[in-house]
Amino acid sequence: MQEKIFDCVILGGGPAGLSAALYLRRANLNCAIVDKSALGGTPTNYCEIENYLGFGKVSGFELCEKFEEHVDNFDVQKYPYEEIESADLISPVKKIQTKENVFLARTVIIATGAKPKKLNIKGESENIGKGVSYCAVCDGAFYKDKTVCVIGGGNSALEEALYLTKFAKKVYIVHRRNKFRADEIIQKRVFENEKIELLLEYIPVEIIASNKVEKISLQNVQTSKIKDYKTDGVFPYIGLEPNVELFSGQIEEDKNGFILTDSAMKTNIDGVYAVGDVRNTPLRQVITAVSDGAIAAVEVSKYLMDIKEAVRN
Ligand code: NAP
Repeated sequence: MQEKIFDCVILGGGPAGLSAALYLRRANLNCAIVDKSALGGTPTNYCEIENYLGFGKVSGFELCEKFEEHVDNFDVQKYPYEEIESADLISPVKKIQTKENVFLARTVIIATGAKPKKLNIKGESENIGKGVSYCAVCDGAFYKDKTVCVIGGGNSALEEALYLTKFAKKVYIVHRRNKFRADEIIQKRVFENEKIELLLEYIPVEIIASNKVEKISLQNVQTSKIKDYKTDGVFPYIGLEPNVELFSGQIEEDKNGFILTDSAMKTNIDGVYAVGDVRNTPLRQVITAVSDGAIAAVEVSKYLMDIKEAVRN
């Protein structure tokens, strides 16, 4: 096990973390990115991104690959596939521990992102991999000429439902209200797609399976009546919850657990910043994550300069 000291350790290698690394290296600061998986973050699982300026339409994987290639030109120290076991953020020198390394850092940028929220209904967790999936890009091809059911009314649900129509013969979108919150342009595409059937004002109550998913039970929110629909797959896209377990008790969060920051990405702890989906941002998109990373890195630079100045005086 090695102990290393950095100007900044970035926790999470998605777009926000990678962008922070680029800006830190350009300020000549030494930094490390630690991620429990490969770098690239959640967008690597997005079928298509068409609102990242300058790229037209691009797959999430391709865009994130380009981000990493760009950062590689600046000699960032990368530690993928290292699960963080503990994080002491309070001390002036922060300490991040993985199985393989101990990272000491003058500053930390938290870019750990968010994970899909669970429906928490019977048959959900038992059938992950047997018909329940949170990643249409990873699993969509298994549903050629089959019926699938997407849950949710946001951008993720509608975009991934459209993606699934490339394979499935029928795609239900189940939503608890009669209005979607997804962008209008995506809604229009959904309304025009003949493979998609909308089941509005329904909530899922059970996923029924023997060896694999066979049906989903839906309850009508107006009548409370329950009806079963045959489906081969269920794709819940009902929002995100932040990856903050490691920092609990140290950092201030909003009522949903997202880390509270100011507009400079500062948290309540000196020298600790949060960027991207993990913070209480009004917009969770690649373009805002990248911008958060840049802002935080510039703040880190100022913070370290102030400390040096204070030591000198
Ligand atoms: P979201 O925007 O929070 O939408 C979650 C959806 O799930 C809502 O329609 C919500 O219904 C529904 N829902 C929540 N809890 C539920 C429950 N227990 N049972 C049934 N339905 C439930 O989440 P998201 O679509 O995952 O997107 C997350 C963020 O990423 C958003 O900020 C989104 O804009 C962004 N995103 C952007 C893009 C893009 O720009 N291309 C793509 C994907 C995601 P209500 O509407 O009734 O609340």
